This record gives sequence, C-alpha cells and structure tokens, in this order.
Amino acid sequence: MRRVYLDNNATTPVLPEVLEAMRPYFGEHFGNASSIHHHGQETRAAVERARESVAALLGCPASEVVFTSGGTEADNLAVFGVARAADHVITSTIEHHAVLNACKHLERKGCEITYVPVDGRGLVDPADVKRALRPNTKLITVMFANNETGVVQAVAEIGRIAAEADVYFHTDAVQAAGKIPVDVNQILCDLLTVSGHKLHGPQGVGALYVRKGTEIEAMLHGGRHERSRRAGTENVPGVVGLGKAAELAMAGFERGDDQKMAAARDRLERELLSIEATGLNGADSNGECAPRVPNTTNIYFDGIDGEALVIALDLKGLAVSTGAACSSGAIEPSHVLTAMGLRSDRAKASIRFSLGKQNTAEDVAFALGLIPETVARLRELSPMWPSSRPKSVVSVSQPEARS
Ligand code: PLP
Repeated sequence: MRRVYLDNNATTPVLPEVLEAMRPYFGEHFGNASSIHHHGQETRAAVERARESVAALLGCPASEVVFTSGGTEADNLAVFGVARAADHVITSTIEHHAVLNACKHLERKGCEITYVPVDGRGLVDPADVKRALRPNTKLITVMFANNETGVVQAVAEIGRIAAEADVYFHTDAVQAAGKIPVDVNQILCDLLTVSGHKLHGPQGVGALYVRKGTEIEAMLHGGRHERSRRAGTENVPGVVGLGKAAELAMAGFERGDDQKMAAARDRLERELLSIEATGLNGADSNGECAPRVPNTTNIYFDGIDGEALVIALDLKGLAVSTGAACSSGAIEPSHVLTAMGLRSDRAKASIRFSLGKQNTAEDVAFALGLIPETVARLRELSPMWPSSRPKSVVSVSQPEARS
C-alpha cells in the first residue's frame, strides 16, 4: 500500500545524509566527548563541528549553543532557567505545551504570568506584549512559528520591545528553524529553542541558543558539560545528526527549497479550499492569511469530526493530523484554534497538513485524490451535516460561509 506522510510538524523523517553522518558515532567513534584520550577527542571534535553548524543556522557564535535532549527541554531550560518566584513572565495563549505548561508550573510556584491573546489569524499584537510589561517582568516568551497553523509571529518587533524594556526574550523556534531563515540578532532574542526532529534530524536532541551574558540557571546538575549550562554526557550521534540537518537546511535555503515547498502547500490548500464548507485557519474574513512557514496549512471541514477524517485517511495511506488532544478521556478542541476564536465544533473539524523535504508533487496529488471523496463520505454519515438531517432542523447546524 502506498503511504504518504503529510505530518511533518509532528516529526520529520531523518534524511539519508543525516543518517550517514550519525552512523559512525554508533560504532567506531564511541568515545565519551569529555574523555581526554583519542576516542574522546574524536567525538568532542564532532560535537563542536555540529555546534558550529547549528550556530551558522541561527547566526550566532558556537559558544552560545547549548545542546539538550530536545525542544521540550530547551523550552523548559529557557523558562525555568531565567524566571523565579515573584518574577512576572509574558507569554501567549497559543504556545506549545512545552512553554505553556512550564509557565503554568511557574505560576503555581508564585510567578505571575500574563497570557497575551491572539487575533483571528493567530497573531500576537506586539502592542499587547508592550502593554503587559510590569516593573518585575523578567521574561517574554512568544513562539516564532506555531506548530498547528504555521503562523509566524512578529518576533523581531517583540524582541525590540524586550530589549528596550531590558527584559529577556525567548522564542520557541522549533517549527521555524530549517523552514525559514532564523537570525538571533535580527530577532534580538536572548534565548531560542530548536529541535532536531522537526528539521529532518533525529528525535531526542535539540538546542537552546543562550546569548552571552544571559543569567541562566541549569536545570540538570552534574558534570560541567555544555559550559555548566546542561549537565550530562552528550548524545553524540544525535548532536552530529542535528548538525548535519542544520547544514542541509541552509543548503536548502540557497536552492530555494522553501519556495518550492510553499508552492506545493499552496496547491494542496487551494484545491482543498474548493471543497464546500471548508476554510483556512489563519485567514481573516477577506481570506487574507497571516505570514506562515512554507510547509503548513490548517483547514476546517465543517460537518465532520477531524479525528474520524484522520483515521479514514490513514486507512487509505495518508498521514495527517488534528490539533486536538485527548485530555482525561475526552477529545478537547485545540487550544490554538480556540484561542483564535474558532467554535469548538469547527476546531474539532480542523486538519493540519504539513509537508517535509521528502514530499513530492505526486504526494500532493495522492492526497488530493483521497481527501475530497473521504470528506464527502464522512459528511454523508454525519449528523452534523445538513443533508443527512430532516429539513426542519437543517438551520441549526448550517455550515458557515467559508472564510
Ligand atoms: N515547541 C514546538 C513549537 C513544537 O512543535 C514541539 C514539538 O512538537 C516542541 C516545542 C517540543 O519539541 P520536542 O518534541 O523536541 O521535545
């Protein structure tokens, strides 16, 4: 059975070049990067080469890159490493749970948190961030690109506000790095998160950019690894894989891969939006879309249950996802889509399509060959879809006009 994977915001396949770069570090190059003998020097050199590659992707000195076990750890290190009880932190309502739940934990420990809202397109207004500043504000943490919608925030503007107020600025760039250019000096951030498995590197490795002079307290205590900012023997194969993925991402920008990907995403989106009672999450009432990373689109299909559509498509070989999460046994609508003002049923009827470097025009055609008929079949069976109801109750759940 042919399988097409359009869920690259969940994780990306490791590119063959990345796997090749990692392979020796599972075998002959096994040394502990802290050992002073030949074996250790070999792996230390590989770790430092990878650090240079990640630094080049972010536009920073290698000394400002701290390797972690992934995006979640890097987000937690940024939040817990900087903020203390009695500090005030500003974040947004649409952050990934790696930031949101870290902030909620800080709140329980006595920190004050302001959750800045987003508009219907999923955008934080930098003026709201500015207005939320208080004398005890220590940290602003607003994500670069959203994992569900791909919407890109005005991070450079928020960075300027933070710099003027002398407040630390962290941005979770897990869904931006490798997809669009990321430059820490343009954003003026003090802290920035990257995850290996979202840019065709391996799972279980990530990095936190920490600007020189940032007072950050380590979360893990042990040896003096990563200049005492993150204790623990380095995951050498993972770090090497992340470094290679960063190099490949940069080469991709030079070739214009991002533009090709945007064109494939736009074709998918255009054709899916021609299905009746669908709409783009992240567009305003004129259909004007917020700035987005090139690989993501998030579309609602009124009258269906998103989970049912994901399962039906998976049975036919297409992998996509909903933003919905299962919480205490119930399917909750996505916190991102509801923060953007979507009704709960529409948020639950939304599907995220996210492309990766491995996807081809044939993959998009395969998806387009399946989705319209599957949506039509599910709608026929759906009590939420007007045609399956007696005329007298049709108006109750009439799908809204596409926006
Ligand atoms: N931040 C964002 C925006 C993400 O999309 C993810 C993963 O989905 C994370 C953080 C967590 O990264 P990791 O899976 O490497 O822990």
